[in-house]
Amino acid sequence: MKTILVSGGTGLVGSALKTISTNYLYKFIFLSSTNCDLTSYSSTLYTFSSYNPDYVIHLAACVGGLFKNMDHKVDMYEKNILINTNVLKVCHEIKVKKVISCLSTCIFPDKTIYPIDETMLHNGPPHISNDAYAYAKRMLDVHSRAYQEQYGDKFICVIPTNIYGPYDNFHLQDSHVIPGLIHKCYLAKKENKPFIIAGSGTPLRQFIYSEDLAILILWTLENYNDKEPIILSVPESQEKSINYVATCIAKEFNYENNMEFDTDKPDGQFKKTANNSKLMSYIKSFQFTPIEDGISKTVNWFINNYIVCRK
Ligand code: NAP
Ligand code: GDP
Repeated sequence: MKTILVSGGTGLVGSALKTISTNYLYKFIFLSSTNCDLTSYSSTLYTFSSYNPDYVIHLAACVGGLFKNMDHKVDMYEKNILINTNVLKVCHEIKVKKVISCLSTCIFPDKTIYPIDETMLHNGPPHISNDAYAYAKRMLDVHSRAYQEQYGDKFICVIPTNIYGPYDNFHLQDSHVIPGLIHKCYLAKKENKPFIIAGSGTPLRQFIYSEDLAILILWTLENYNDKEPIILSVPESQEKSINYVATCIAKEFNYENNMEFDTDKPDGQFKKTANNSKLMSYIKSFQFTPIEDGISKTVNWFINNYIVCRK
């Protein structure tokens, strides 16, 4: 049986992979930062060598939403550069057969034409709010292609859009919009206060449910061998406003009559519309979880796991 080592195995996407892993015939190893600090080369080499995986799904990263990206630029840059450099270097050294690493649609140029596709990643500066994270992540693409070209390594990057689901980080300030708003709505209802949404509510995003993404990452590992990255996203037609997702969340809590928008808070990039036609050319029939269902499952998970979840 082939071994897949998953870095970031305790995060949002890693946990979704763990949930679906029972449907696959691999031996999975899920790493967290307590097993191995990937900012350390020696720790990475020691841990990866001891498992000697056939494949690596590289998810570990210093991740956050708009506000963490704005407030922690040094961490977003340094930690991600170190983690990615160590993981790829070690995967090369121990001869891992294929590595799938995660970029993000939020690292594309700010000023661009829409929809964005895989060819546009480096065509201009990212949005100023997340430039440190974006440049660090863009180097993961450069680094992966360098290994492909110099050594013929199968180091491939996927480009997910905004992800949400169970096991997310529900921190009030540092999280992404869906987990952040779920936590805020939960507290607002409990304290009978307004449910406050940052910004105008007009920005648009594509959201993918974490288990859908986990299936697509394993599909990529098994089937996708192009050198270029591939966008893993719902179609453009499923792009939603922040107001729409906030309203879905509020409905789950029966609290939609007490919503307020704090327009003193930033909106970030207005949209990042991504074209998933490359993905669809391979798997036309893939059924994405509708966002209303995904939010419902995530809210229920959050309520049932309130004590133990990341927040
Ligand atoms: P997450 O929930 O924040 O999880 C991060 C994971 O990385 C955790 O398992 C964490 O381990 C691990 N990690 C962090 N620092 C580490 C270190 N120094 N050494 C070892 N492990 C470390 O992240 P996610 O949302 O699942 O994201 C997975 C990937 O998708 C990332 O590469 C991210 O950039 C990308 N992505 C995410 C989104 C999104 O909306 N979430 C969108 C596009 C792309 P601990 O649990 O021990 O801290
Ligand atoms: P992004 O897609 O990388 O910009 O990341 P986010 O998931 O952080 O989404 C940011 C968008 O959601 C911006 O338009 C924010 O103004 C809006 N937003 C509204 N409320 C919140 C919140 O509580 N947390 C976050 N992170 N964003 C929020």
